[in-house]
Amino acid sequence: MDANPKGDTDTDGLARPLPKLTPLNRDFWSCGAEDELRILHCGACGDYIHPPAPLCPGCLSRELSPRPVSGRGRIFSFTINHHRWRESIEVPYVVALVELEEQPGLRLATNIVECPPQEVQIGMAVEVVFERNGEVHVPLFRPCVPPHGGRD
Ligand code: ZN
Repeated sequence: MDANPKGDTDTDGLARPLPKLTPLNRDFWSCGAEDELRILHCGACGDYIHPPAPLCPGCLSRELSPRPVSGRGRIFSFTINHHRWRESIEVPYVVALVELEEQPGLRLATNIVECPPQEVQIGMAVEVVFERNGEVHVPLFRPCVPPHGGRD
């Protein structure tokens, strides 16, 4: 999971722990500034890779570059957190693995927002929405609005 205490930085006053930016992950955590989600893509075998790695785990190529994706996917698994780990974070909230539509197995650890936790379901169609925290734009996911507009 990405949301581990090791990635925590000094974020007094901020609602969530933020990742440390590195040359490898900087594009992923800042691409939301341009309102698009970008995932490392292997030019040799065509796979998307997440979390960011220096080598393609499939073919060991270093021919990796960020490529925009749709930002749409489905909830692969989730858990509802009721424990107030931080004073500033409202509970309950949903921690989820979202599988992007671009590739089976391409999953992001994230939170589901704009949806009551009890309505979250495995398989639910979701889309990315960015939460800006300075340079870091955390990709969160919210339910896709049905095309016929059934949701309030
Ligand atoms: Zn590859």
